[in-house]
Amino acid sequence: MEKNGRIRVRFAPSPTGYIHVGNARTALFNWLFARQNGGIFVLRVEDTDIERSREEYERNLIQDLRWLGLDWDEGPDAGGNFGPYRQSERLELYHRYANQLLEEGKAYYCFCTAEELEKEREAALAEGRMPVYSGRCRNISLKEARLRLAAGEAGAIRLRVPDEGSIQFEDIVRGLVEFDLKLIGDPIIVRSNGMPAYNYAVVIDDALMKITHVIRGEDHVSNTPRQIILYRALGWEPPVFAHLSMVMGKDNTRLSKRHGATSVDQFRREGILPEALCNYLAFLGWSPPEGQEVLTLEQLVRLFDLRRVSRSAAIFDYEKLYWLNRQHIKLLRYEKKLELALPYLQEAGYVGTEVTPEQREWLEKAVEILIEGVDKFSQLPGKFSLLFDYQPENLDAEARSIVQADSARKVLVAFIQKTAGLNEFNYEIFAAITGEIKKETGVKGKDLFHPLRVALTARASGLELDKFIPLVEEGSRFDWPRKLKNCLERIREFSRILEA
Ligand code: GLU
Repeated sequence: MEKNGRIRVRFAPSPTGYIHVGNARTALFNWLFARQNGGIFVLRVEDTDIERSREEYERNLIQDLRWLGLDWDEGPDAGGNFGPYRQSERLELYHRYANQLLEEGKAYYCFCTAEELEKEREAALAEGRMPVYSGRCRNISLKEARLRLAAGEAGAIRLRVPDEGSIQFEDIVRGLVEFDLKLIGDPIIVRSNGMPAYNYAVVIDDALMKITHVIRGEDHVSNTPRQIILYRALGWEPPVFAHLSMVMGKDNTRLSKRHGATSVDQFRREGILPEALCNYLAFLGWSPPEGQEVLTLEQLVRLFDLRRVSRSAAIFDYEKLYWLNRQHIKLLRYEKKLELALPYLQEAGYVGTEVTPEQREWLEKAVEILIEGVDKFSQLPGKFSLLFDYQPENLDAEARSIVQADSARKVLVAFIQKTAGLNEFNYEIFAAITGEIKKETGVKGKDLFHPLRVALTARASGLELDKFIPLVEEGSRFDWPRKLKNCLERIREFSRILEA
């Protein structure tokens, strides 16, 4: 390893599904560490599991990482001096080093069948022993093994691991970690189908790609001693390890679908901003020394400290993520808010595919007002429903009880009469009319305004009317896929219902 050279880290996902937020955090921590140290961030695709790996997942993975804003210096699409960066294209390298290990007697062919191994395993468990490979094929010479292979027998390659002693390593997050070799057994490094096992490929790649720091999930801690033995067998020095705690739900089980969204892709589709997600992911196991909360990627690069990462499990708190998302939404320019909101409004059928510049201007205003208090963009159509869906025939219980009060009747009848002859309406007219009604009926405050709100919005709560009325009046002048009714249309509809 280049001890005094440039820092090189990697994110090494397997393209077997969408990126889980736990993995996204691993990517982020690697990226932050590289960027703050002027290092190199490598993307390596670990696609040796031929049954589960798919090209489509690799494409999604790349898209998700780009969306998060984590760029890499070397990778399958970016190239670099240590490629190829897809394990399926590196098989020749794995075979070359496996042969070296075989020739040196550090590895051997194993012809045990799956059934034999399973029997051994069961026997060990029955006797209360750890199921560790017995080493039955250890003494088959390379010459004999090659004959058996030539005769068509299937053989895997195993690494010879000492039976006694222990492996220790200093983990940046977890401190000193120690494993008893007795419990390790001789791991398979190349399967009988010729594909390298994870523990083997990862060592060859990390070494040849000159990775200096391996930052990854804690689920790989128990693989690390096997990997260290491989480094030693190959005469290489292992990198520095940092294992990040698992991401859990509030109930202390691994974060999964039961808890809510778990993949970067899901959060993107829900309308979480990438800057908010990165901000939140950074807080899974780390916090800045001065307790700052809303941080951009650039600020995170400056503040992040791998040595301050906690070893205890990180609990994923959706509410905190939404809070951060709201803060980051506030930082966006209004054009950007509309750009992000538009697909949701189109999907909901409120806005068509063609949007005129005048409609755009109005939509920017509407989004600016309605996004207040929204956790994520997918909630915006629910807010726009206040403008586009006027259904006075379907009042909820609270709205109904508001309009049924005696004083409400008086207010509504007066309001309907005073607006009956109008063909223009705006907030000034509304204010003048309510002033008159107040004088004539003596009803004021909540009792005056709540029934009018119900009449205009068909809801018990929502926007302040000084915001709602101008918005609806302006918006109703445009052609939308679904008609946006103006205030006078609403009042007429409401009066018919009141009569009925
Ligand atoms: N492909 C492995 C994973 O996704 C990589 C583990 C590692 O970083 O070494 O879990």
